[in-house]
Amino acid sequence: MYHIAAVNYVMLAVLLCAACAALVLGLRDILRRTAAGRPPFTGINWRSFFLRGVLLSRLFKRPASGVAHALLFFGSLFEIFGHGVYSLSLIGFPVYSGRFGFIVTEFGREIAGTAMLLGLLFLLLRRAAPPERLTNGGSRHGFVAMEFLLLLAILAGFGVEAVRLSAPGVVSPGEFLGSVVAGGLRKLGWDLSGGRYLASWWLHGMLGLAFIVLIARSPMSHMLLGLINSALARKRPGVSLPPVDFEAEDPVLGAEKLADLPFKSRFDFAACLWCGRCHEVCPAAQTGKPLSPKKIMVTCAEYQSAGRVDDPSLIDALGKDAIFSCTSCGACAEECPVSNDPSEVIMHFRRRFVMDRSEMPEVMANSNRNLESRCHPFVGTSANRDDWRRGLDVPRFEPGQTEYLLWIGCSVAFEERAQQIARAMARILDVAGVSWGIIEETRCTGDPAKMMGNELQFVELAQANIEEFREFKVTKVITMCPHSFNSFSRYYPELGANWETIPHSALIDRLVREGKLDLKRDAMQKITFHDPCYLARHNDILAQPRGVVAAVGQLVEMPRHGKGSFCCGGGGGQYWSREGGTARISDVRVAEALGTGADKIATSCPVCLLMLSASTAKHTEQRKVFDLAELVVEALGDEDSRTIPSTHIH
Ligand code: SF4
Ligand code: SF4
Repeated sequence: MYHIAAVNYVMLAVLLCAACAALVLGLRDILRRTAAGRPPFTGINWRSFFLRGVLLSRLFKRPASGVAHALLFFGSLFEIFGHGVYSLSLIGFPVYSGRFGFIVTEFGREIAGTAMLLGLLFLLLRRAAPPERLTNGGSRHGFVAMEFLLLLAILAGFGVEAVRLSAPGVVSPGEFLGSVVAGGLRKLGWDLSGGRYLASWWLHGMLGLAFIVLIARSPMSHMLLGLINSALARKRPGVSLPPVDFEAEDPVLGAEKLADLPFKSRFDFAACLWCGRCHEVCPAAQTGKPLSPKKIMVTCAEYQSAGRVDDPSLIDALGKDAIFSCTSCGACAEECPVSNDPSEVIMHFRRRFVMDRSEMPEVMANSNRNLESRCHPFVGTSANRDDWRRGLDVPRFEPGQTEYLLWIGCSVAFEERAQQIARAMARILDVAGVSWGIIEETRCTGDPAKMMGNELQFVELAQANIEEFREFKVTKVITMCPHSFNSFSRYYPELGANWETIPHSALIDRLVREGKLDLKRDAMQKITFHDPCYLARHNDILAQPRGVVAAVGQLVEMPRHGKGSFCCGGGGGQYWSREGGTARISDVRVAEALGTGADKIATSCPVCLLMLSASTAKHTEQRKVFDLAELVVEALGDEDSRTIPSTHIH
């Protein structure tokens, strides 16, 4: 049995403390570079910390990469624990004996080391033939060098183990890999006693220490920054834009430089791996628009590492066309393995373009002007707010008597096809015996203004709505548009609203489950459901719409569904823009939907309905896209369902 003199352990412990200090100082430097952002913290998200940070849940969206990272991460954790246990041998603890010695020190550490080796080999091999997302838009320097350093440290660990096991009389079946190598060493007759064993021990130690020192000064910092960033992630999913303090002496109107951004965004740039997963799921990037969320993050990260915190050229380096191509779908934020949110960064720059420079694409600008003059964004429409209820006896909301306010919203009011949603909803509420009514003179929620970057206009519209709802003593609101639902439930409370909002899909699901709607289910009818981004990704509303679909027909899922849904292309004000690029986003989505072989495409958002209907019209004369409310009225099968024409043109 070979022995290491105690003085070596003491020296290694001192060096380990120094390496850990270097790591802490490196992390402090990163925090200093990012902490200049405002405001410092938004609270700890423990759920995200454990699921995404510790259990690496997001990495498993790509199973091979997820398994490789998990092998490396959990293998490392066990090795850190194992090394701690090993150090107990200094005080005479028999770390290699008994059941504990076998399970932890021998077999456990051998498995952990092997797991690390396999995970690392996968990542290194992938670097030899990287997926396009890793290289497109740049790769972070230093990954390969650090992965090789770690590989050497692991191999040296197995080496020192093999040397120890090659000593005469040593048998350790738990250390199966080391035993095989040790057997080979013995056969070769190499004398590895004394100084050579000590040298291999120090080599392993020094490689490990070098890795620790360099963590914070290399892309490997993502191991810790990703963990921290997952704890800093907002508790509510989806894009969240902090309010602007217009009362402040010098209000920050969006961002043109890094110093204008919140701390979390600045931390995102430090944590970003440049992995391009956000680019791969971005509907704008995937249809040839001038936007890549990865490129946005990389450009900001480069400014940050160059110390260009106050450089206002950043906004132009990112580019107006890129900033206004975002649909605010939130897919990038949902995908990012280190809990970054490129969409929020984009929206901060969009705000600056609009509120400070008065720059935005012309069609969007027209809609903004319409919002100012007519309180809705539909330029040139000849419809008025009452058209949807022509021929229907729609109750007014009576303060203190009516339970639910049915919020009509602009798309439903001003787009002829979407008006059918409100007519269907009115029928459903009547059949289910719900106490409901409308307020006749309403205006836009302001969501299009907010998402186009015009926060001031949003606040004006929101405050007017809040005042009106207060006058009517509204306590419960039904929305047919997820954008309205999102604004009412996410942003209005910041301005003093205190009512409860329920999306119509969730209410219908509840009414079905309570037996208040007698539906005739057609099991042969295949229906695929397109998740609106503002319901699924932004608000976790996934099961209720599916409950409604299952009540009227047979649900068939698209490859991208739920929180992984693909945008219709209409969010973020894009409904009021001229779509360029190589393909229309809605065309891509409709091709995916039709590929399921479904008879009908269901959705629960008027914007999605309009976008998808326009694209479906390129394939068939038949109406294919329906709102859930329309499908439910059809399944009611009573006379009044004829108010919803089933083969109407698009
Ligand atoms: S933001 Fe996230 S997903 Fe996008 S490149 Fe950075 S780490 Fe990858
Ligand atoms: S929010 Fe959607 S459109 Fe905007 S950058 Fe992210 S993935 Fe792309």
